[in-house]
Amino acid sequence: MEKQNIRIRLLSYLVIAYMILAFFWWSILLFNKNRDAFRAKSQLMKIEMIEHGEINDNAQFLKSAQYTSLSKHYTRQEWMIVGEAIVFVISLVLGVYFINRGYNKEMIASQQSRNFLLSITHELKSPIASIRLVLETLLKRELPREKTNQLQVNALKETERLNTLVNNLLFSAKLESTYHANKEPLDLHELLEEIITKLNDKYPDATFTFKQEGEMPYFQGDKMGMISVALNLLENAVKYSGNGGKANIEAHLSMQGDEQIKLEIKDQGVGIPEKEKKQIFRKFYRVGNEDTRTAKGTGLGLYIVDQIIRAHSGQISVHDNVPKGSVFEILLPIAGN
Ligand code: ADP
Repeated sequence: MEKQNIRIRLLSYLVIAYMILAFFWWSILLFNKNRDAFRAKSQLMKIEMIEHGEINDNAQFLKSAQYTSLSKHYTRQEWMIVGEAIVFVISLVLGVYFINRGYNKEMIASQQSRNFLLSITHELKSPIASIRLVLETLLKRELPREKTNQLQVNALKETERLNTLVNNLLFSAKLESTYHANKEPLDLHELLEEIITKLNDKYPDATFTFKQEGEMPYFQGDKMGMISVALNLLENAVKYSGNGGKANIEAHLSMQGDEQIKLEIKDQGVGIPEKEKKQIFRKFYRVGNEDTRTAKGTGLGLYIVDQIIRAHSGQISVHDNVPKGSVFEILLPIAGN
């Protein structure tokens, strides 16, 4: 498929190059024909004028009004040819550029939906398979109480994973149609501290720390939305730590001037290549290739985060952390969101 696309592309570039060359060649021909016609016409005109006794020699002919008008006409035609050639080439190049852009977008969209299908199938299949295995084991065997409990806890974790996935899918569909931020005064400090405590329990190998600088006013925000933002960013920080879940993640809350709240989530993970930094907020976008990637996911998390932040008139961006990893920075306006 990929090879066939390259071949079609190459063929269309060759056709376009041929068209430009052909047009260039026609322009030169037209130029020469125009010049020949001008020379023939001026010769004829000179003979007629000498015959009628209007002029005696070439010098007089070159100064005559008739020759000047003919020469102006010739120059105008020359410029017309040049102008039309330029307009044609520009339109052709613009046409090719827009077609190419559309084609590239189409290719990215189809690659993303392929990625999405692959990842969603995997994300749905693996918890279902685990839960099934647990239920089958419990049915077939009489196990000690401790072992049974352990299996049940695992099955519950898997259902939680399924639940999160389905919620994310539903939420992302809702974001496009009916999402309205349900705003209420929020104490972000309290909210983040609660989330961080829960995450420290959920990921025993990782260390989450939370710092706040100075006083923080109440923020008019959607509680569920803000929880989803923090959870997505903090859990991504563990997921992309590249260290088997061992990670140091910092959440930092501060004021940016008097009017904006700044939340930074810093990790020391694998980092994000420069050219992907804007793309990762797109729906279903995941860095790398689905066939080779190991971290689970659907590419919906950051899209949801970005949409929620926008619904609060805020901004999200990502920078490199030093010496490694990423810093996600969120700016939320206190007034008028
Ligand atoms: P998912 O995690 O389900 O793939 P997200 O929308 O949350 O989807 O993230 C999109 C992509 O951004 C991820 O696939 C990953 O490549 C990249 N990414 C997100 N967070 C981080 C991070 N903290 N460090 C490195 N890469 C990240």
